[in-house]
Amino acid sequence: MTRLSQAFLPTLKDPPSDAEAVSHMLMVRAGLIRRLGAGLWTWLPAGWRVLRKVEAIVREEMEAIGCQEMLMPVLQPAEPWQKTGRYGIEEMFKLSDRKGSPLVLAMTHEESITTHVAQEVRSYRDLPLMLFHIQTKERDEPRPRAGVLRTREFTMKDAYSFDRDEEGLARSYELQSEAYARILDRCGLRWYRVESDVGMMGGSEAHEYMAPCAAGEDAVALAPDFAANVEATELRAGDPGPNGGTVEVEPAIEVGNIFKLGTRYSEPLGATFLDESGVERPVVMGCYGIGPARIVAAAIEQGADERGIVWPASLAPWDIHLVSLAKGEGEERTAADALYAELRDAGAEVLYDDRDAGPGEKLTDAELLGCPLRLVVGRRGLERGVVEAGERAGGEHELPREEAGARALALLQGGDD
Ligand code: ATP
Ligand code: MG
Repeated sequence: MTRLSQAFLPTLKDPPSDAEAVSHMLMVRAGLIRRLGAGLWTWLPAGWRVLRKVEAIVREEMEAIGCQEMLMPVLQPAEPWQKTGRYGIEEMFKLSDRKGSPLVLAMTHEESITTHVAQEVRSYRDLPLMLFHIQTKERDEPRPRAGVLRTREFTMKDAYSFDRDEEGLARSYELQSEAYARILDRCGLRWYRVESDVGMMGGSEAHEYMAPCAAGEDAVALAPDFAANVEATELRAGDPGPNGGTVEVEPAIEVGNIFKLGTRYSEPLGATFLDESGVERPVVMGCYGIGPARIVAAAIEQGADERGIVWPASLAPWDIHLVSLAKGEGEERTAADALYAELRDAGAEVLYDDRDAGPGEKLTDAELLGCPLRLVVGRRGLERGVVEAGERAGGEHELPREEAGARALALLQGGDD
């Protein structure tokens, strides 16, 4: 897997001077991301591993509800956007090709997916249908901020449902809502589903998925059995809650949202079908967005401590951060190499710190990067016949050297030590 001596994993002692959000500081310091321009971020190898884990969870849960993956272009003709009246949106990057034909960089994909459905769907028998992709979005955001929280280019999972009527839409919406709950639980987030404004997307019902944390731009009002976007409720901090208790207001990151679009896009783009009696009707649509980068940042915001990131196990770039304290060759090195090979063979994802650096630097980096389990193979431990194990979320153990691999794997499984 990965030897730190050969990895592109540049950690930093100090955060970037313009960073305020904890996730921004830690993602840069831990070598997960680097800035290329205003609101433009590169995911370095360790960060990319995390982002891909979120995407894999999202993909599995979409497939589990029968939502089919596809891929649509980012570069798009302007025409469908003109038809839906969204060509004028200020956040949209516009350009033209060498022939002068107007193009846009997609900020979302309602226009393109509805165009496809308009061309392919004919009859009620073709419905319902749920489709998604995980694709780059481009937005000329007025205020990019906080590392990957609000960027001008980001990846979104956007899913779309196509139904015959409102009842069908209600079923699709419920399926997506259940999938969102599983996604956010599996990503280890503390989150709330709140009602939201239907806003610029148009439509009849919408919910946002909010992850409370200090860096959030939104605010949620929380009370027992109650959660709402502060923008969508009259309640303020200190008010009695609708179901008892007292309202507290917390800042939160919007990590996803779901909308009942109705016929907002199917009508202008001509996505219709013939019903059982041969009558032509517009397809009834929903759309379901989620931002994997915001999930990563929210997980960091919610879990971090003063030493660095504390990953939920499902998102960690590696399961195990194996630190060898050896300098040069010798028994210390041999023991760490052997443990590395054993863990790797057992299928664990291991980052092996085999650098010739001092123990302080290595241990600080391990805390900063926040993998669930740190193993330290050093001369002093070996003399006592042990490998030291530290769970990032808390818990120190000494593992007998001969059983260190098996015991480490058991710790990862949440097994007793
Ligand atoms: P916001 O209100 O934060 O601007 P939005 O309503 O514009 O979000 P959508 O267009 O519905 O968001 O996008 C769906 C998801 O994509 C959001 O819930 C969020 O997770 C993510 N997202 C939106 N804009 C950005 C951005 N500029 N940078 C990173 N992720 C984003
Ligand atoms: Mg926006």
